[in-house]
Amino acid sequence: MSLCTKINTSVRMSVAKRKLDSRKINIQQGNPLEQWGLTKIRSDIKNNRVMSNYFGSEEPDRESIKEYKLFKFRELLAYVLDNSPYYQDLYANAGIAISDIRSYEDIEKLPLTEQVDLANKPYHFLCVPRKDIIREFTSSGTTNMLKRMAYTQDELLEIVDSVISGLKMAGMDSKDDVLQIMYPTITATWDPGLVLSKACALGGFNSVIEDSLDAEQQIKTMRESGTTFIIGTSSFLYDLSRQARGLIEPGELGIKRMICSSEPLTEEMREEIESVWGCKTLRQWGMTELGLANAIECDHQNGFHLNNPDFLVEIIDPETGKVLPEGEKGELVVTTLRRKCMPLIRYRTRDITSIIDEPCQCGSCVDQRISDIERWTGN
Ligand SMILES: [Zn+2]
Repeated sequence: MSLCTKINTSVRMSVAKRKLDSRKINIQQGNPLEQWGLTKIRSDIKNNRVMSNYFGSEEPDRESIKEYKLFKFRELLAYVLDNSPYYQDLYANAGIAISDIRSYEDIEKLPLTEQVDLANKPYHFLCVPRKDIIREFTSSGTTNMLKRMAYTQDELLEIVDSVISGLKMAGMDSKDDVLQIMYPTITATWDPGLVLSKACALGGFNSVIEDSLDAEQQIKTMRESGTTFIIGTSSFLYDLSRQARGLIEPGELGIKRMICSSEPLTEEMREEIESVWGCKTLRQWGMTELGLANAIECDHQNGFHLNNPDFLVEIIDPETGKVLPEGEKGELVVTTLRRKCMPLIRYRTRDITSIIDEPCQCGSCVDQRISDIERWTGN
């Protein structure tokens, strides 16, 4: 790398760091992901005259955050009606105007966004000129439908910011922490290793990417790098753990947490992984369409903490599309409240879960969580 490139990279990194809300997290003061979310909400309210008049300077609580999300939802609705050919058509065909949506009950009047529509005509969702797109990701997820999502520079930085906050919630704290990133089995057009290593660099942690399928090589890299955290797909970490049994003693390497992503993790798999490495496992949930890293467990392993300010979530009956009462299990439907490039409104995830709307033992008071996730196998 030339000196000039090094200087440019360093300037870009310092500009990016200044924009991160995750840098304001104080790990000693409660749940880091919740702190990050509250920082974003406070800043949104402060910078919007109507919201700041309405909410004042009171500290956001569960009720006011619900109202804040409704405000953001209506703001997004106005935005897509101005900019998104897909939503302009969808809502015109349904005969819906923004003035029809004033409450949470009204949101149900809006048609759901189907995955097949995103797969068939991704650029109908585009709300910005193509020159503003910095990165596109394609992913089939687990539904075998190729879906293309585009992101602007600011959105990518927001994704990295949320990843840093999630890593801090998992316990990463300083330069002494090293994340070993293992995604040898992922074949997607997006590179999770790249996003995670960028998050570590900006968040002030170290990282190492090790893509070997061999447990001995992975362990060698852990020893050499001083690895303290590990992330990979659930099935890969499970297979690795079974290979590693007998090669190491539990706790010997000083691994603090294993983060299992992208796939379900059964209790049997969790027990196997935890007994081999002698540490807790935390599950992470995310979809490419929603910005990759959307929710992660805390040490209490009692539901996934959502990136609260990013999403408005609903649970519907997958057969009828009707919204289900609070706490009931059904299909997760998500609205991306902050996206500008390709926002999604009432997007059907095909994942079955329920919303946990109560404080967690970790001290998080206002964050929503989602319970165990199963795939919906209906049509
Ligand atoms: Zn928690």
